[in-house]
Parts: sequence; structure tokens; C-alpha cells
Amino acid sequence: MKTRIFLLFVTLSFVLVGFTACDEIVVDALAEDMSLASSGFSVPLTPDNPTLYAPLTEPEEEPEPEHYIPFPYIPIPPMPEPPPEPPTPPPPRYKIALTFDDGPSQFTDYILDILEQHDARATFFVLGNRVHSRADIIRRTVELGNEVAGHSWNHRNFAGLSADAIRAQIRDTSAAIEYVLGEPPPQFFRPPYGIVTSRVRRVAEEFEYSIINWSIDPKDWQNRDADIIYKLVMENAIDGGVVLLHDIRIYTKEAVERIVPSLIEKGFQLVTVSELLEYLYYELAPGDVFNGRRR
Ligand code: ZN
Repeated sequence: MKTRIFLLFVTLSFVLVGFTACDEIVVDALAEDMSLASSGFSVPLTPDNPTLYAPLTEPEEEPEPEHYIPFPYIPIPPMPEPPPEPPTPPPPRYKIALTFDDGPSQFTDYILDILEQHDARATFFVLGNRVHSRADIIRRTVELGNEVAGHSWNHRNFAGLSADAIRAQIRDTSAAIEYVLGEPPPQFFRPPYGIVTSRVRRVAEEFEYSIINWSIDPKDWQNRDADIIYKLVMENAIDGGVVLLHDIRIYTKEAVERIVPSLIEKGFQLVTVSELLEYLYYELAPGDVFNGRRR
């Protein structure tokens, strides 16, 4: 009996060992075929399977999309770089008034062109006896935003004139400007040579005019050299300054070509005398003399 029980036990042990071995075999087979198992493909790799061993056929070509670019690829040239923007001048930090005396002359139009090209303004102190013959220039001067004021009728030194003679010089010049422009000049004038006596001031008061002289004088009537005129203006330019120039001088004309853009480049806005007075909050009373700021 004991022997039978032993044999039964041995038999059962073999059966159990057999099952365990079968499990290991299954696991080994799966490990060998991991690629198929992972892709979910469970058909065994055998020559009997005609699907897997069928000769490879080229897949049908897909129709080319419309935007297809055939080989060789020709690259589209890049868009040309846009031209660089011209350098913009800095916003003006200062104001300065260029003034031109003794005109109009054959050079005035050229100076007006320079000012116009640079969006600059100036004040022209004209001689009364030149106004009618050059009325077109006077009108153009004002149309471009510049100012025209009187500088006497014929450039007589007021220091040697009677009060009546000074009155006539100022009155006739203002009348000529008003005739040409249809409006009176601003309430100021500049006496010849900038000479101001008590008599000149009294007459100015009668007309309710103030007197505008200057703070920067490159002596363009003496320095017959555009380089010197240019250098003296640039060295002495200052916020609130008034520059004395003459639009009857060829060297001045040449210097102005460089003075105007150079001042703008240095941060100056070129304004009329009226604009400068407004900027400086100067309220001139009749007979007052204004020179502008100097270094
Ligand atoms: Zn003068």
C-alpha cells in the first residue's frame, strides 16, 4: 500500500514538473518573437505562411500634389534687403535764429532754397529801397515761413540822422514791405550796423517797435572765406542765439549751404526771430533791444 502511495506521489510530482516546464517553453518562445508579439502580429514566421514570404511589390505612387517641386530643387532667391532708412536727425534740442541783412539780392533765392530743403526758417532784415524791385523774392521769403522785417531804407547810419530822418527810414521801409506782402512787418526792426542811440530807441517806441540785434557775428562782410564764416558760426552757436549774416555776400551763400545742415545735425532748430522770442518767453516792450544769447 505504501508503495502505491509512493508511486502516486512520484507520478503527481512528474505531472507538476511537466506543467512548469511547459510554461517556461511558452515564455522562451514569446521572448524570441518579441518584435511580432509587440506589434500584435501573432502569425508564426514559417515558410508555410504565403503572406509573409510573398515577393515584395512596389507600392503604387501617390499622385503628386500641385505644389510638388521636382528635383533638382531650384531655391527661390531671397527677397532683396530693403534699402536702409536714411538716418533721421535727432529731435531738435535748441533753437537759433539766422538773420540776413541788406537784401534782397541775387543770392537770396538760393539761400531760401537751402532753408526750404532743410525745413529751416530765418529772418530777413531788408532795405526798403530794394523791396519793390524784388517783390517776388520778398513774397517767396514769407511764403516759405520766413520773416521779413525792416533794416532802414538805404542803410544810413541812424546815429547821424535827425529823429525825423530816422522816422522816415523806418516808416517808408515798413510801408514798402506792407505794400508787397499785404500785411505789415512784425513789430521790430534792425538799425544799420546795429547802432542804437537814445534817439533811435525813442523813435522805435513811437512806432511801438523793438530792436533786434545779434549775439553771433561771423563778420561775413569782412571774412571773404566761406570756411571761416562757417567755422565762426558753428563754434559760437548756442541755444537762443541770433546769428548775423548778409544775403548779399557770395561767401555767405556758400557758408549757408553748410551752416544750415550742420546746425540741424547738432540739434538746433532754425527759427524766425518771432519764434525765438516766443521760445525764450521774451516779451519785448517798444524801444527794447534784444541781442540773443551768446557764449
Ligand atoms: Zn546792414
